[in-house]
Amino acid sequence: NTPTETRRFEAEVAQVLHLVTHSLYSHKEIFLRELVSNASDACDKLRFESITRPELLAGQPELRIDVNWDKEARTLTIADTGIGMSRDEVIANIGSIASSGTRRFLEALGNEQKADARLIGQFGVGFYSAFVVADRVTVLTRRADAPASEGVRWESDGRGEYTLESVELPDRGTTVILHLKDDEDSFLEGWTLRGLIRKYSDHVAFPIRMPAAKASGDEGDEGEAGAADWETVNDASALWTRPKSEVKDEDYIAFYRSLGHDFNDPAAWTHNRVEGNQSFTTLLYLPSQAPFDLLMGGRDERKGLKLYIKRVFIMDAAEELLPNYLRFVRGVIDADDLPLNVSREILQQNRQLERIRGACVKRVLDLIEKLSRDEPEKFEAFYKAFGNTLKEGIVEDPANRERIAKLLRFASTRGDSDAQDVSLDDYIARMAGDQDTIWTITADGYRAAAGSPQLEAFRARGIEVLLMFDRIDEWMLGHLREYAGKPVRNVAKGELPLDEAGKTKQEEAARAAAPLVERLKSLLGDRVADVRVSSRLTDSPSCLALSDHELAPHLARLLREAGQ
Ligand code: ADP
Ligand code: MG
Repeated sequence: NTPTETRRFEAEVAQVLHLVTHSLYSHKEIFLRELVSNASDACDKLRFESITRPELLAGQPELRIDVNWDKEARTLTIADTGIGMSRDEVIANIGSIASSGTRRFLEALGNEQKADARLIGQFGVGFYSAFVVADRVTVLTRRADAPASEGVRWESDGRGEYTLESVELPDRGTTVILHLKDDEDSFLEGWTLRGLIRKYSDHVAFPIRMPAAKASGDEGDEGEAGAADWETVNDASALWTRPKSEVKDEDYIAFYRSLGHDFNDPAAWTHNRVEGNQSFTTLLYLPSQAPFDLLMGGRDERKGLKLYIKRVFIMDAAEELLPNYLRFVRGVIDADDLPLNVSREILQQNRQLERIRGACVKRVLDLIEKLSRDEPEKFEAFYKAFGNTLKEGIVEDPANRERIAKLLRFASTRGDSDAQDVSLDDYIARMAGDQDTIWTITADGYRAAAGSPQLEAFRARGIEVLLMFDRIDEWMLGHLREYAGKPVRNVAKGELPLDEAGKTKQEEAARAAAPLVERLKSLLGDRVADVRVSSRLTDSPSCLALSDHELAPHLARLLREAGQ
C-alpha cells in the first residue's frame, strides 16, 4: 500500500460544501436520494460499457445497490456494483469541481449565499450532501476494469481536506460510508431508510436492497443475518415499460421527481407505446414551474430527456430528441431498434430518430393542447413559466407553426389588465363579420401597448387588438404572418380599412387638410418619408406610423441600444 496522501479540496468545493451543509437543513434526507442516484448512474454506466466489453461483468453479473447500517458504529453504507472510479477519477469527480454543473451552481448563487434545496439536485452537487448528516465520509471504490490491487480509499470530514490511499478491493464498484453526526440517529432506523428509499428512489431501475430482518424492524439478532437475507425494497422496474392501466398517477409523479430533480409535481404527462416496424415508448412530462437552468438560459447543457435502448440507459439526449423550444420537457424515450452502441454523432443524423423526434413533438403539442382545454388553471401556470419558450417554436418549427400559435395567449384591448389569456381562436370567434385581419400591437410594456394612440381608431370602431409586450413577440410576429387563413398584422403598419361612411369622411378630411399637409412636409423635409391624413386617430392630433417593412419603434430602439 502507498502511504496516505492528504489533499485540499479546490476552493470552490469548500465553498459548495459550506453552502450545501448549511442550506439543506429542512431537506436533510435528500442526501440518500443523491447517493442512491449516483450509485444508479454508476450501474447505468457499467451496463452501457459492458455492451462492448462484456468481460467487465465477469464474476459479478448483478448490478445493484445495497443500503446497510450499523447502530453501534453509527455508520450508514451505500454500496453499488457499478463502474467504480480510478484514483484520478476520484480526484477529478469528488475533489474538484470538474463538473460544470457545480460551477454553474456557484455562479447561479452569486453573492446570495443561500442555496435552496431545489437547486442542489439540479446542479449535481449531490455527493456533498452526505456532509449534511455525516461528520466523516469514507469512499471505497474500484473501477470495473482495474485489478483488486487498484482500489482507492478516500476520506474527508468535509472541512477542506481529504485523504487518499490505495487499498486492495476484491469487488468492483463504490461503497460510501457515512459516519453520522450525533443527532442523526433516525438514519439508523430500518423503517426510516426504507421509507426514504420508497419515497425518493422507488423507480431507480436497479434493485436497492436492505438486510431483510433489519428492514422490517426486527433488529434482534443483528450480525447473524446471512448474506442471503437481503430484501429488495424498491420497485426497480422501468416504469415506462409497464402498461398505462397499471401505473397510478402517484407512480408517474414519483418517477418524474426521480427524473428531473424537480420537487414540484409535473403539470401533465403523456405515456405512449408505438408498435410497428419501428417500436418505441415515450413518457414525457410538462413541468409546472420553470426550472432554474431555463431561467439562466442554460441552453448548452439541456438535460432531463433520457434515451434508453431496450431498457439500457444510453445518454441524456434532450438536444437530439426534441427541438429547442420544447426544452422544458422531461422524460424518457426507449427505442427498440436503435443500435446499442449508438453515439451522439450517429444520433444527430439517424433517420429512425427523425421519426421518433417527430412523434415526440406531436405528443408534446397534443399534451399542451389538452392541458389548455381540460385544466385551464394548470395551463395558466404552465404558460406563465414556458409561454415565451414556446413562442420560439413559431420561428424554429414552421411545420408546426399553426399548432403552436393555437397554444399562445395574449393580453387584449378587451381586457383591462396585462393578463395574457386570449388565444387567437378566442379573438377570431369575436371578430365582427366584416373583419378579416387579426390585429396586434407590439410595445415594450403593457402600458405602452395599451395606451398607444395607434389604438384610438380601433377602439372607436370596437375592433379588438392583441397587445404584445414580451421581448420575443416582435421577432415571433415576423414569422406569424397568418393564422387560420387570416392575416396577422401590426396596427402600427398600414392602415385600418375603412367602412363606406368612413371613406367619405376621410376624403373630405384629406381635402380640407391638404394645405396643412403640404406645409408639414416642407417643414419636416427629410426627417419623414411622408405626411398623410390618417383614419388612425380619433383624439390625438398626430402620430408616427410605420410602413409595412419597417421595424417597430421599440425594436429599433432595442437594436440601437445593442449597438446595431
Ligand atoms: P453528479 O451525480 O450530478 O455528477 P455528484 O456530486 O452527485 O454529481 O457526483 C459527482 C461525480 O462523482 C459523479 O459525476 C461521478 O463521476 C462520481 N461519483 C459519485 N458517486 C459515484 C459512484 N457511486 N460510483 C461512481 N462514480 C461516482
Ligand atoms: Mg449525483
